[in-house]
Amino acid sequence: MRDTMENTCVIIKPDGVCKKVSGDIIKRFDSEGLKLVAMRMVRPSKETLEQFYAVHKGREFFEPLIRFMCSAPVIVMAWQAENAVAKVRQIIGATNSKDAAAGTLRAMFGTDGRRNVVHASDSAANAQKELAFFFKPEDLMKYEYGDWNK
Ligand code: GDP
Ligand code: MG
Repeated sequence: MRDTMENTCVIIKPDGVCKKVSGDIIKRFDSEGLKLVAMRMVRPSKETLEQFYAVHKGREFFEPLIRFMCSAPVIVMAWQAENAVAKVRQIIGATNSKDAAAGTLRAMFGTDGRRNVVHASDSAANAQKELAFFFKPEDLMKYEYGDWNK
């Protein structure tokens, strides 16, 4: 793996799953050249989410955020690319869906500041920490696109 190769943690939030746009979201990352290396549907506990979002503890949006993230299953994924963190942040758009640039996933499918359809890591270090909540190291798949045709 080249040393600029990164994994990033992407979560399709409860609104994305329930609005049935998971396929559109996955399709977008595939088309943008990122490689899917892990995926799981889960219903994270309140405790897990409080740790996952610990950096925001004490903010006024923290409790409603945790309630929202517990409200339905989510789909957690690891996507890999060179500069995957920055690439994915670009594709999802600004935190508040109302401010997100046209064509970004949050503009296309999100609603507001909280219900913004997708989470993505903000640094490579945080991506590692976030993925560790949901995946063991061996859950991250190593493969090449040509493998099926060997
Ligand atoms: P992100 O990295 O773009 O997801 O944004 P943050 O890490 O700052 O916030 C985490 C999540 O908390 C966001 O994705 C939103 O779901 C929620 N959130 C952040 N800021 C606000 C806010 O000002 N109002 C509300 N209602 N929710 C927020
Ligand atoms: Mg964040």
